[in-house]
Amino acid sequence: MFRFKQKIEIVYGYTFAALINFESGEYFSIPNLLLKSFVSNLNNEVETKNHPIFDFLTRKKLIFQTDLKNIKKNQTVDISKPNYLNNAVIRARDKVMTDINSIICLGVETFFIVIDSETDIISLNCKLAKQHIKSIYFINYLIEYDTLKEIININQNIICVYIVIKDSKEDFAIDGVPISYVNSKFEDQIFDLTVNEFNFAITEQNYYESKKVNSYFYKNIYVDKNGFINNTPNLNGIDININSFNNIQEFITVILSSEFTKYWFIPKSEIQVCKDCEFNRICVDKRIPIVNGKESYYKSECNYNPYIAKWKGDIAYLSLLECGIEFIDGEGYRFDRKKIKKQIKEIWGF
Ligand code: SF4
Repeated sequence: MFRFKQKIEIVYGYTFAALINFESGEYFSIPNLLLKSFVSNLNNEVETKNHPIFDFLTRKKLIFQTDLKNIKKNQTVDISKPNYLNNAVIRARDKVMTDINSIICLGVETFFIVIDSETDIISLNCKLAKQHIKSIYFINYLIEYDTLKEIININQNIICVYIVIKDSKEDFAIDGVPISYVNSKFEDQIFDLTVNEFNFAITEQNYYESKKVNSYFYKNIYVDKNGFINNTPNLNGIDININSFNNIQEFITVILSSEFTKYWFIPKSEIQVCKDCEFNRICVDKRIPIVNGKESYYKSECNYNPYIAKWKGDIAYLSLLECGIEFIDGEGYRFDRKKIKKQIKEIWGF
């Protein structure tokens, strides 16, 4: 008999399913009907081998043959961490080290440091070395080799460094720590509001976490150029400066407040349209949900239409409205299921 490999998860959407491979960081889209019929035949070797997607799944090394009926799945991935925050996006300024020092004791492991000018880095460089940082993204700044080496040599916790600049260069490593150049598109991913395939975070952490929380907002902090904090760069409303806290407890009180955590616990499964999307466990979406009772919604449309499984720009792409899904301001989306069915049939023939 055949089985899916342990690091494979399947998420069924409205029309298509996503086969997520955590080992390779890839995903594959397969029509629900096709995948479901394959899954139900897994115990029958002949049926499995004759199935239209068997060759594809074998070639992609997603399935394997075994005599064991039950394969132990990776159900116990523990995503809980005893930290208040996971990621910090900081627009560097003179006092950037003070900001980092204040935030670091809240458990942040990944810093996105946006360098807007040469002067910023003067206060930043080697002082970073003494922190417990796992990943650093230097955005807009081509940090010098020697400085980087010093930071890495002193800080044993660093496992990767990314340099986000316009023109890509060849990646290298310093003492086993990979230094990767990332296209400046990456900055758009942090700050802009559009959803595209590049915003998919194919990690087990994200997959399990996204069941209960909104991956974009959860445990993140943004510090702007003047030191004002917010949950993320695209939110307003918390008019508090990072320097105004007298002690760590005051800081913790703010980041655990209902205002700061407003969007943390709105998973995609509770947001209209996204809840029908096969990518909702790997998609990191910067749009702000409008809270509307049990089911929230986004005002703007994503670049992917999960009902017909088409991205904007694909042949036969249709907007939600063209598929019979009408947006009503203040209410959310209204679904014309007959029209959706008709459009799916016209595009995919099932
Ligand atoms: S519909 Fe929602 S979950 Fe799907 S790709 Fe768009 S934003 Fe992500």
